[in-house]
Amino acid sequence: PNPRYLVIGAGLAGLSAARILREAGFSVTVVDKSRGVGGRMSTRRSDGWVCDHGAQYFTARDAGFRAEVARWQKAGAAALWSPRLVVMDSEGVRAAGERTERFVGVPRMTAPARLLAEGLPVRSGVTVTGLRREGAGWRVVCAEQGELDETFDGVVLAVPAPQAVPLLAPVSPKLATAASRARMEGCWSVMLRFDQALGLPFDAAFVNDGPLRWVARNSGKPGREGQESWLLHASAAWSEANLEADADTVAQALIDAFIALGGELPQSWSAHRWRYAITESAVDGGCLWCPEQGLGLCGDWLNGGRVEGAWLSGRALGREMVRSFQALAR
Ligand code: FAD
Repeated sequence: PNPRYLVIGAGLAGLSAARILREAGFSVTVVDKSRGVGGRMSTRRSDGWVCDHGAQYFTARDAGFRAEVARWQKAGAAALWSPRLVVMDSEGVRAAGERTERFVGVPRMTAPARLLAEGLPVRSGVTVTGLRREGAGWRVVCAEQGELDETFDGVVLAVPAPQAVPLLAPVSPKLATAASRARMEGCWSVMLRFDQALGLPFDAAFVNDGPLRWVARNSGKPGREGQESWLLHASAAWSEANLEADADTVAQALIDAFIALGGELPQSWSAHRWRYAITESAVDGGCLWCPEQGLGLCGDWLNGGRVEGAWLSGRALGREMVRSFQALAR
């Protein structure tokens, strides 16, 4: 009989792995602790406004990923974004002056993940807290409903490395050690809503000075509807130093820094703390698959720490799992 796999994490890595497994005819279930799919490619929605508060855009260098992004564009789920982009530092403001192609999900950052999830059984609101070996299979415990009914032949962990470590430690010290080598840093994100458009002379800025790292006019990205919204990301150093600060204090400091760049006081704001945002030191290898245990790892942290790397990592793992199943069946 065909094997039954569980993928934990419905970010780009988990979804791309799940699609490969599904296309090979295997039975796949995807679970994620949050309400929707997309993981760190995410968007917050509020009264009359929306704002991407995780990944801001993605680049596509690998030929396979470029073809995938072209598919997303054709489906209306992604578009090129060509902002007036500047770099700000202690010496002033200058045009970014580079030719990188940047893409965004349309009408919001979650769109590519929703496209990938089409036709896949995805269960939201399932937080996996434990894995247990039973014979040659896996039993899976989650916070919301205890042990899941099914036994799985293989489990894919497509979650940030620090969240994979506690799940792996009791069942695979080797994979746990590999995951504990990736270092991921936090990021405070503040979304701002304005009644009117701001007259700033840029749409996005890399900020190399002070608490901010990036600001962008979210409502200026392709296909966005709703009120003027801006997104602020704090630098890794500032975010790490203020990880436990309360949202009001953080928002105040970052809004002050935005005003110092020429911004204005918003009508309303919302803050989000990413505890594991950016991979500071990635583990190389693309993905990890242990055929004896039927346990696999994929995610951005195994492949350069970005959206493109996450998708490629999931695909690489899926393909390796299919190959190892076919080798066993021979
Ligand atoms: P994730 O998207 O993190 O997916 C993991 C999923 O696992 C999540 O949905 C989570 O809910 C789920 N999960 C975790 N633990 C459990 C559990 N125990 N049980 C069930 N589910 C679980 N990349 C770029 O390319 N360009 C950018 O500009 C960019 N900017 C960024 C800015 C910020 C603030 C952040 C946070 C990230 C940014 N990134 C950027 C990185 C990019 O978002 C990631 O590289 C990519 O989305 C990672 O995908 P993933 O599938 O590996 O992980």
